Amino acid sequence: MTLKRDETGRLHIQTPLMAESLMDKTLLARADSEQVFRLLPDLSIIKLGGQSIIDRGAKVILPLMDEIVAARAAHPLLVMTGGGTRSRHAYAIAIDLGMPTGVLAKLGASISEQNALMISTLLAPHGGIKIAHDDLVKLPAYLALGSIPVMHAMPPYSLWEEPPDLGRIPPHRTDSGAFLTAEVLGAKRCILVKDEQGLYTADPKKDPQAEFIPEIEVHALLALDLADLAVERAMLRALSNSRSVREVLIVNGRVPGALTRALQGENPGTRIYRE
Ligand code: ADP
Ligand code: MG
Repeated sequence: MTLKRDETGRLHIQTPLMAESLMDKTLLARADSEQVFRLLPDLSIIKLGGQSIIDRGAKVILPLMDEIVAARAAHPLLVMTGGGTRSRHAYAIAIDLGMPTGVLAKLGASISEQNALMISTLLAPHGGIKIAHDDLVKLPAYLALGSIPVMHAMPPYSLWEEPPDLGRIPPHRTDSGAFLTAEVLGAKRCILVKDEQGLYTADPKKDPQAEFIPEIEVHALLALDLADLAVERAMLRALSNSRSVREVLIVNGRVPGALTRALQGENPGTRIYRE
């Protein structure tokens, strides 16, 4: 950025976005750089589903803790947690009381944080440490110490969450939070651990005809406009615009070893990628 002196002798910083509305489409297209800085290009983010995993209790969670502890020597990890049934219950009461979306988002955050407390406590003997959103830039230091950082996955839109197209449920929940964390850190992988093999053409719990989708390009998936999904639509939209992370994996946390295989670069479930 150069300095320029005007006719009165005053100095101005010549910056490319000076005096722009930041709404001009050609200017916006130019406001990019060849490469985005990746803070942790080897990091794998593991999001444990709230409803699909954590709500199932010890039988499903403890084997996953073992897989995480065994994997962390070979893979720098950040574990993230969803909210699940308690979030849904809080959303239902809040909607009944006429609460706006931003209040629901704040409720969802505190419930996924409860889950982060329990998961980090379980992992504490192995270096588990619960971190807050502002601690993210300290991750390289935590990982160098051999910690397993655990953070809740609700993104901090909080009271400022935007109203969704339909209804009042916050559109950016913990799948979006896990993906956006991976994106801002320039992580290697974003793995969503849920309770089905991956994505199907319909909810396999409701439709026995649902067909499994082992991999699909994200724009193609958005274009399918499926009536129900295993991941948040806001997360798919974020992936379709990503600058660093090119894929998200959905794996079945009830199948022993599926998470470990995903960490090793295999696709034991569904791979949603960006072309
Ligand atoms: P999480 O607790 O990880 O956030 P959710 O319960 O929100 O998980 O979403 C996962 C669930 O989505 C699955 O258990 C499945 O029953 C349901 N689901 C709905 N539509 C689909 C679909 N098209 N493919 C796979 N699962 C789906
Ligand atoms: Mg969910």
